[in-house]
Amino acid sequence: MIQQIAVIGAGTMGNGIAHVFAQYGFTVHLADVSETALSKALATIAANADRQVKKEIILPDQKTALLSRIKTFTDIPAAVQAADLCVEAVSEKFAVKETIFKLLDAHAPAHCILASNTSSISITRIAAVTARPGKVIGMHFMNPVPMMKLVEVIRGLSTEKNVTDTILALCETIGKTPAAAEDYPGFIANRILMPMINEAIYSLHEGVADINAIDTIMKLGMAHPMGPLQLADFIGLDTCLQIMRVLQEGFGLSKYAPCPLLVNMVTAGKLGVKSGEGFYVYTAGSKTAVPNNSLTR
Ligand code: NAD
Repeated sequence: MIQQIAVIGAGTMGNGIAHVFAQYGFTVHLADVSETALSKALATIAANADRQVKKEIILPDQKTALLSRIKTFTDIPAAVQAADLCVEAVSEKFAVKETIFKLLDAHAPAHCILASNTSSISITRIAAVTARPGKVIGMHFMNPVPMMKLVEVIRGLSTEKNVTDTILALCETIGKTPAAAEDYPGFIANRILMPMINEAIYSLHEGVADINAIDTIMKLGMAHPMGPLQLADFIGLDTCLQIMRVLQEGFGLSKYAPCPLLVNMVTAGKLGVKSGEGFYVYTAGSKTAVPNNSLTR
């Protein structure tokens, strides 16, 4: 039975994952190398829980209980020593995940399930660095975690059926809807989403339409809540490029080649919302995103 959960990585995704598990009564150990990331995560969780109280999703005393269930750690072995489930949400780099999974495998109890929130890295490859590949699985939460219903559950080649069943049931327990996918590049979410975003960038690059027109066509024509260029800015253009490279390398097909404009923007440090400039320009304090018309001439 899963009672104690360790979340490794307290960034954008880690704080949301910790929030949701604590909201549903689990004891959460939130670990990160950075003290600053941990304090920022706690502040974000408190602010998001406040918003849930205002929207009457939770009661004020449930907010207090939620926050009291989260303990922070910079020492990963200490965080996971009694965990039933670890959910890794560190940076999207195989070398970093490899180090973390070796550490989790060495220090978490033998029964503990090790999950990764990776957007695109092979679960089978991550599992292979541990001595318990049957207990390694993908739990791909969506951003922002407290609001998004979906968890894409990825079965590695060695993942045991009872582990998949436990994780699918756990997703339901925390109010999410799981959908299972096999372990192939990009799984389902990013295999479909990223080529669409890349194609939108190609459309801009080739002068087929401007930023505003591309996003308007996809929002009003396809009922997408956000246009693909704006969504790319939110995801982070470096992350989008990284995922296109995983698809290109994994399938060996030219249709997954990242658009040269995307490559140039990442090289120039124009990463979207996080750097203040991507396909839109974001001014601190303003909620209006202005199309970045300097990209095309
Ligand atoms: P992030 O950069 O916001 O946070 C990563 C955190 O990991 C940072 O706080 C960093 O200090 C910490 N970290 C790095 N190395 C570490 C180590 N060795 N030990 C402990 N902590 C370490 O990243 P994110 O956007 O939260 O992404 C995390 C994972 O979730 C990635 O695999 C990403 O692909 C995936 N993901 C991201 C999104 C998204 O929209 N951001 C959506 C779904 C999945």
